[in-house]
Amino acid sequence: MDYVSTRGSAPALDFAGVTLAGLARDGGLYLPRTWPRFTADEIAAMRGLPYAQLAQRVMQPFVGDCLTPQRLGQLCEAAYGRFAHAAVTPLKQLDQQHWLLELFHGPTLAFKDVALQLLGLLFEEFLKPGDDPLTIVGATSGDTGSAAIDAVAGRARIDIFMLHPRGRVSDVQRRQMTTVMAPNVHNIAISGSFDDAQAHVKAMFADTAMAGRYRLSAVNSINWARLMAQVVYYFAAALQLGAPERKVAFAVPTGNFGDVFAGYVAAQMGLPIERLIVATNVNDILHRALQDGDYSAGTVTETATPSMDIQVSSNFERLLFDLGGRDGAALSAQMQGFEATKAMRLTNAQRANLGYGSAAALFSSARADAGDMAQALRWAWEHTGELIDPHTAVGLHAARAAGIDPAVPVVTLATAHPAKFRDAVERATGQRPPLPARIGDLFEREERMTELSGDYAAIAAYVAQHATPRA
Ligand SMILES: *Cc1c(COP(=O)(O)O)cnc(C)c1O
Repeated sequence: MDYVSTRGSAPALDFAGVTLAGLARDGGLYLPRTWPRFTADEIAAMRGLPYAQLAQRVMQPFVGDCLTPQRLGQLCEAAYGRFAHAAVTPLKQLDQQHWLLELFHGPTLAFKDVALQLLGLLFEEFLKPGDDPLTIVGATSGDTGSAAIDAVAGRARIDIFMLHPRGRVSDVQRRQMTTVMAPNVHNIAISGSFDDAQAHVKAMFADTAMAGRYRLSAVNSINWARLMAQVVYYFAAALQLGAPERKVAFAVPTGNFGDVFAGYVAAQMGLPIERLIVATNVNDILHRALQDGDYSAGTVTETATPSMDIQVSSNFERLLFDLGGRDGAALSAQMQGFEATKAMRLTNAQRANLGYGSAAALFSSARADAGDMAQALRWAWEHTGELIDPHTAVGLHAARAAGIDPAVPVVTLATAHPAKFRDAVERATGQRPPLPARIGDLFEREERMTELSGDYAAIAAYVAQHATPRA
């Protein structure tokens, strides 16, 4: 299997190449050249497999010759053996039609662990002795940072520098990053917003002096391997609910469009999906883009769902590439227009292929404001006895409003553990969710981080001082 860039001019790479590179050299994102497809019989034969074995089956076509089935299976066992639930991503029934897919049983309590635990192992697998060491630089609004740090802490030939906006991540999120004492982990708290942190990271990748001296790499969801690992739990849930004979709908709390794009990939691979419901908070660029073709970024409004407070959804580019007939040159021009003006319209072809609003459409979308979110959170508590996190509540609101045929099960992706956002959960329900025992001493652990101004030069100097240069 080889991978092509959405912008059409970066060299094609194999799976190991795209895993280590993250972003394509032409500014685009990598996608498999074609979608592998399973027959209904092949899907039926996956029923009842333990999660790690299912993961190997679903991912092998993407990995190609880069790992033998046996080796990929071993890495999956290692990655998913660290989860606190034997099913890894268990389903929980809420009522006759609605289900939660609990994706938060990993070490840092959000779905990011499902992909990043595997990615940490893949990095180590593909970095050969004598290769240049990897310098991972990332920005986080909370969940990606803690999951990435947990995944690479203590690994050889990898340093990680994680920027977070000082004072704007929850106490639990900050401590999950800053209490990791491995010497290859560097937390940087900057003054400014998440967007400022993200801009510094982009500046570093564009800084030819830094990129020449260090082998920079990314762990956000522009990395294909992350999306690939997320495809697996769509299969796991649908198989339990009757796939391939029965269709299932999914509601997905969405920020960077990574998680829901993994659902789109599952559908391309032959999994019968009735609907992918894209759920946004008031930062609703994706809802507007899908519904009206209007992809225009406003300013970010802070909400109780910080992982969805996003105005530019990187992975949406991957969907537009596919919908527009995979024309890299045309998409490159469209995206450059967006980057210059922060606004663009979907083309007629892209909108026609979306078919939004038609009975056959794969995607629908909904936007939840603060009241909708709190109401869904309270509904879950009062009617089912479940405490859910605010991101999950945005998804559940959209799931319940989507008007899906009552014969079709609707699965809401539970993207974070409620304890990670316990102030917001308590405001809505009066209940304060306890921290799970596995991170129960988080507030007694020592913290370590470096505070820097919002000045790019200071951040680059800090990275240069602590990273290992290319050989
Ligand atoms: C990252 C995150 C999201 C958004 O996922 P995307 O893949 O960026 O769309 C939603 N909820 C939680 C809790 C997250 O951590």
